[in-house]
Amino acid sequence: MTASEIRQQFLDFFASKGHQIVPSAPIVIKNDPTLMFTNAGMNQFKDFFLGNKVPASKRVVDTQKCLRVSGKHNDLEEVGIDTYHHTMFEMLGNWSFGDYFKKEAIAWSWELLTEVYKIPKEKLYVTVFQGDASENLPKDEEAYNFWKQHIAEDRILLGNKKDNFWEMGDTGPCGPCSEIHVDCRPEEEKKLVDGKTLVNADHPQVIEIWNNVFMQFNRLKDRSLEPLPAQHVDTGMGLERLIRVMQNKTSNYDTDLFMGTIHATEGLSGKKYAGTDDKKDVAFRVIADHIRAISFTIADGQLPSNTGAGYVIRRILRRAVRYYFSFLDVKKPLLHDLVPVLAAQFSHVFPELQQQADFVKKVIFEEENNFLRTLDSGIRRIEDFIQNATTKAVDGRTAFELYDTYGFPYDLTSLIASENGFSMDLEGFNAAMKEQKDRSRAATELDMGDWVVLDETPDSIFIGYEQLEGTTKLLKYRTV
Ligand code: ATP
Ligand code: MG
Ligand code: MG
Ligand code: MG
Repeated sequence: MTASEIRQQFLDFFASKGHQIVPSAPIVIKNDPTLMFTNAGMNQFKDFFLGNKVPASKRVVDTQKCLRVSGKHNDLEEVGIDTYHHTMFEMLGNWSFGDYFKKEAIAWSWELLTEVYKIPKEKLYVTVFQGDASENLPKDEEAYNFWKQHIAEDRILLGNKKDNFWEMGDTGPCGPCSEIHVDCRPEEEKKLVDGKTLVNADHPQVIEIWNNVFMQFNRLKDRSLEPLPAQHVDTGMGLERLIRVMQNKTSNYDTDLFMGTIHATEGLSGKKYAGTDDKKDVAFRVIADHIRAISFTIADGQLPSNTGAGYVIRRILRRAVRYYFSFLDVKKPLLHDLVPVLAAQFSHVFPELQQQADFVKKVIFEEENNFLRTLDSGIRRIEDFIQNATTKAVDGRTAFELYDTYGFPYDLTSLIASENGFSMDLEGFNAAMKEQKDRSRAATELDMGDWVVLDETPDSIFIGYEQLEGTTKLLKYRTV
């Protein structure tokens, strides 16, 4: 089954259970000071859970573009190294706003995985919240008992607060969650650890695919809990992981979701992808991952820049450039040429990329060119430093010089440092940064990134780029 068919089946399955199919919210969040990018399917529905707004439909299903590279969820270090954490990914979700609860959510997730997708039951196990006496949180007996109707008890594991209890914030809606994991190890390997209970993410081939959150409590300021007047279901399943399981692969990158980009990168670089842990193969994976994050965020209205959300995108982009420069031996812009590949691949799901492909490509090309101007000398600078260092540490001043003179984001220097067994000094870096800011405060206070926002009231949404004049990008907004 193709990625598109698998995505569609999820939507169709829940539509058949009375859910309305709704579009993904933009991956870029403009009007929330606490969040720069959508990091979970529930973000766009927050007001329904808080009771501030009433949904048009009590049952909803969607696939949500998510980005996890900053704040509470930062998976950047994992990307390309492990085979199942991405910067940008699609989170499939079904939602009940004060409608069905644990019984249906559990029964339907089981039905979908085992009867529609036909994932062998022996590969699946689930986790249920074990309770936490110190926080006065009860064990989720209800979920346990519903699961018992579908799956053998030795496949229901109890999990702690970190993995199995969800809270929106310090106060507000919260509740236990129940996760579904797939054990993709070959039979003979399973036998090696016979008798030992699997633990969350204990093995690279045992992966979490689906989280079912049951919002049933309201957390008050004094930390006590009261039942919510209406109970909600919020689920999230990583599409890329599901496809990997469905296509029987040992890596998300080996699926049709990523292989198109990987093949295109092979063509552009003249190198072959072999799927190993070799640096060259990591580079292929990092590029296949990062180009998605960069393209979709730009298409949703966030240009790379030197501040805030724009800098997050610039960091991801520069990281990708360094990977092809150092490990695929490509010395000229490459990423922008992958945009048409992605745009065509996603035209039926996220047409916004296709619609703006030329612009997105142009922005990425400019960014690559800019960074490539200083990357080579920056790499020589750090290699030189590493060779002559007396201790295995990159001091803050050098990290800052790499940032300031060569455009190396801190995390890029940190990546190169760790490849060489060197530590970093974040405090020293911040101090050097502050010193420079103090010197040129007036200039930084005026810095808005390299874009001008025409109209960004809380009630407007981004609908596309209007024109490109020199380096000033004018953005189009529509009032909602
Ligand atoms: P993990 O423990 O693997 O980091 P998580 O517990 O942080 O995942 P949730 O917040 O429960 O993830 O999100 C719901 C689902 O989204 C996960 O079960 C997984 O399938 C998917 N997911 C989460 N983070 C990523 C990521 N960085 N890349 C791809 N899929 C992800
Ligand atoms: Mg995580
Ligand atoms: Mg987890
Ligand atoms: Mg989880």
